Amino acid sequence: MASPRGGVHYPRSLGEFQAWFRTDADCLDYLEWVRWPRGFVCPRCGHSGGWRLSDGRIMCAACGHRTSVTAGTIFDRTRTPLTVWFTACWSFATAKDGISALSLQKALEIGSQQTAWAMLHRLRSVLVRPDRDRLSGTVEVDETYIGGDEPGLRGGRAKGKKVLTGIAVEVTEPKGIGRCRMALLADGSSASLHPFVTSQIEPGAKVITDAWMGYHGLAGLGYAHQRRSQRAARARGDDPGELLPAVHRVASLAKRWLLSTHQGSVDEAHLQSYLDEFTFRFNRRRVAGKRPRKIPPTPPVTRGHPPSLERPPAERPWRAAYLDYSG
Ligand SMILES: [Zn+2]
Repeated sequence: MASPRGGVHYPRSLGEFQAWFRTDADCLDYLEWVRWPRGFVCPRCGHSGGWRLSDGRIMCAACGHRTSVTAGTIFDRTRTPLTVWFTACWSFATAKDGISALSLQKALEIGSQQTAWAMLHRLRSVLVRPDRDRLSGTVEVDETYIGGDEPGLRGGRAKGKKVLTGIAVEVTEPKGIGRCRMALLADGSSASLHPFVTSQIEPGAKVITDAWMGYHGLAGLGYAHQRRSQRAARARGDDPGELLPAVHRVASLAKRWLLSTHQGSVDEAHLQSYLDEFTFRFNRRRVAGKRPRKIPPTPPVTRGHPPSLERPPAERPWRAAYLDYSG
């Protein structure tokens, strides 16, 4: 399939979403269409065709293997109805800054905050493609402490401690910011920093760091390494905190996001998955929203009246999309 189209392969609006996924069976059918667009294929023997069992699973007609469409997916072994799952996905995907476990729990009447948290955690776990491209061009790299208690908050709610985090950010001319990557580091040694750089940045890129010795040796790993000395910046009368402006901008946005969307209650063991979510949202920021305009937009002259959200069932439009595709 070419790139998925809104309104055909996925809903474009809340109204479409509600009309498409009215029942748990609709959601299950959609998952089956996504996974097996040409009909069931046995994951064990590759045979095409099987029978639906009374519990909703499918049994392979050749080898008798029983499986469900959700096996091996984020929806596997969950007692949460698929309509709740789909609505959680919708909220997660459409809220610009994401959603906290507490908000999700309240909105969907989920029994415990733990369940809501586990759902969001599963969603985060599928955000990072293992084969994603590394950063390239000109990249600033630095390390900073993230997470833990909010500063000045005595007897704080969050237990965790601050964790050293590597940050790499593409710099575009003249002062733009491209994509970023963030990963927890064991420490600030070259044994930690070098693998961070090589796993996140294409060889041949220009890598800008401060003068910290942990970054020594990057030139030998195939990078054009430029070091910016804090001491030299001070001597010039520049602000040493502005030595690597792109990484500092991204680090402060990430810290602010953890404090706002998640109220800072992120424990160390799960910090990486939150950073993955932040990175995912940050790297898609231009896709998601329009860049701010200098001229304030004027309100449209004609008024558009929205269609009612009370709509007839959409009759599983994805199945028609599959027919288009196969024919
Ligand atoms: Zn089989």
